[in-house]
Amino acid sequence: MVKSSESGTQARPAAKKTGGKRTAAEKTTAKTAKATAKKAPAAKSAAARKTTAETTSTAGKKSAAPKKATRTAASKTAAAKKTTAAKKTAAKKQAPAAGAAARAPESHTALVRRARKINRELAEVYSYAHPELDFENPYQLLLATVLSAQTTDLRVNQTTPGLFARYPEPEDLAAANPEEVEELIRPTGFFRAKTKSIMGIARAVRDEFGGEVPGRLEDLVKLPGVGRKTAFVVLGNAFGVPGITVDTHFGRLVRRWRWTEETDPDKVERAVGALFPKSEWTELSHRVIFHGRRICHSRKPACGACPITPLCPSYGEGETDPEKARKLLKYEMGGMPGQRLKPPPDYPGKPAPPLGAA
Ligand code: SF4
Repeated sequence: MVKSSESGTQARPAAKKTGGKRTAAEKTTAKTAKATAKKAPAAKSAAARKTTAETTSTAGKKSAAPKKATRTAASKTAAAKKTTAAKKTAAKKQAPAAGAAARAPESHTALVRRARKINRELAEVYSYAHPELDFENPYQLLLATVLSAQTTDLRVNQTTPGLFARYPEPEDLAAANPEEVEELIRPTGFFRAKTKSIMGIARAVRDEFGGEVPGRLEDLVKLPGVGRKTAFVVLGNAFGVPGITVDTHFGRLVRRWRWTEETDPDKVERAVGALFPKSEWTELSHRVIFHGRRICHSRKPACGACPITPLCPSYGEGETDPEKARKLLKYEMGGMPGQRLKPPPDYPGKPAPPLGAA
């Protein structure tokens, strides 16, 4: 079900909130500066003409008058220049207003408030945020998450239907021919290493956990190829245990927002976790990743179409022109297909196509 049009969604956040205002302010300042610049020479010429006339008519009589007129003209010109310079300075100060506020030292309390406000804004924009891997049980999500390393969720979703159909249970995969598995997961890249990991997981689940994927962090991270990130994805989305998923999008965005300067995913996870109640961790992760994939891209963030501009200290890192920024969006609300072949029922976009479909 489509909840709103692309233009509606985009206009709500960026253009209305700050982008539009800023542009309007800059335009106003530019017009004023131009008018002042035009007036300055005009005033100068008028003053000069006045001076000449006075000089001619009072020649020999009032020799001090021209000097006075010249001084008046000069002071008018100086005043005009001063005004123009002041307005230019004001315009310069106004342009990076969003960034300037956050460049000032921010107390922990202010940071917590700003971070939670960003989360609330994202919750409105991405009310349908969800994990973008297709899965029906913890076993499928665990395997899909391992396969998603160094590739897109879309590619994983296009690959796993064949894998799960051939090996529906951990014991099936544990007893598989590795070469067959390699062929099935080849489209996800690094297929030999990934085959070892997922077959190792299947054996460990079969032998050590009675065929069921464990629901505890300390057990999950003992499985081959499973780190904290993978474990939190599984815990948060298959077991309902709150967890923060620090993937490449999450790390990039929280650093842009100055929630933390850490680059190590475990440290990022702890720093961000300290800003939010546990109950928010899983949904926050989805929203941040959605925002990173759709608007705040790695190389070309669409700042001019971003809903959290006033809260972002990195505003201006990407395109600020609303029209140009809108063209950078990768957004389901604009009719683009999502990553999942089987998205949740409330997803407002199109499902992704199967592998090889046009
Ligand atoms: S960097 Fe730009 S696109 Fe990213 S969150 Fe900030 S304002 Fe939005």
